[in-house]
Amino acid sequence: MKVTSILFSIIMALSLCSCQNNSETSHEDGMAEKVKIDAEIVNNIDPVCGMEMPKYMGDTLNHEGDLYGFCSAKCKHDFQEDPEGYISKLN
Ligand SMILES: [Zn+2]
Repeated sequence: MKVTSILFSIIMALSLCSCQNNSETSHEDGMAEKVKIDAEIVNNIDPVCGMEMPKYMGDTLNHEGDLYGFCSAKCKHDFQEDPEGYISKLN
């Protein structure tokens, strides 16, 4: 999962560079998409391990209508074991 995240970051960085060269409009579209992702999850840290979200987000979970971001499937799994316990840590 970590390798996938790194590869994704590199691809994103490369595509942002090419957008800047091509046209300003494509670049703004990319930014808007990022903001949309930020707005979708309710947590700004991984409630299990404390990693910054959505920067290191590798997985998400919809819990009682709220979308939570996690760095990995392992953290998501741990959260599912005790969701209320981890949510209380966020607040
Ligand atoms: Zn984590």
